[in-house]
Amino acid sequence: MPGQVDAIAAALAEAGVRVEDLRRIVVTHQDIDHVGSLHDLVAASGARVLAHAVEAPFVDGTELPRFAVPQALERHPELRPIVEGFRWTPVDEALRDGARLDLAGGVRVVPTPGHTVGHVCLYLERSRTLIAGDALSASDGRLAGPNQDATPDLPAAARSVARLSELCDRRSPCRRVRPVQADHQEGFHRRLLLPLFGPVQGLVRRHRG
Ligand SMILES: [Zn+2]
Repeated sequence: MPGQVDAIAAALAEAGVRVEDLRRIVVTHQDIDHVGSLHDLVAASGARVLAHAVEAPFVDGTELPRFAVPQALERHPELRPIVEGFRWTPVDEALRDGARLDLAGGVRVVPTPGHTVGHVCLYLERSRTLIAGDALSASDGRLAGPNQDATPDLPAAARSVARLSELCDRRSPCRRVRPVQADHQEGFHRRLLLPLFGPVQGLVRRHRG
């Protein structure tokens, strides 16, 4: 969300990283709880911004992101002052499906549309960790499918979950799942890290059923 640079800096500090050390910021999707402080982070660090080519226009303001369209502001008038103070951030690199980033031992960009049109997950090959963005969710430490209320294209989202499962088939023995979820502000700014995401297959079966 906007105004969270200090909270993000504190979280980075736990990992021994300073905001000014950031070189690249990969945006999973356009929602304000994911890009709200992006402009300030870039201003403080000079980091390059990466987003999927389909999602990039909604990040840099070429297209209105879904949180800023008139219908969304009518439904959630409390967001209006936040949106009016929002500052767009240019995207320096538009990512393509299957792109591989040379960081953290190799990061695979996995297209996972559904929650938004250009949503991506990031698969860290060395640690076999999935940064799921909002393609999946978790509640009380249990893995769950995408948030149905905030996912306009559920069939696409289900196919995206299936794609994550295929990634699991190819690359890891799919043992147990250990969701890690960080809520920095009343349910906003969630991130979900899933080392070895075997139970994703169960979710796929449930979506198909
Ligand atoms: Zn989202």
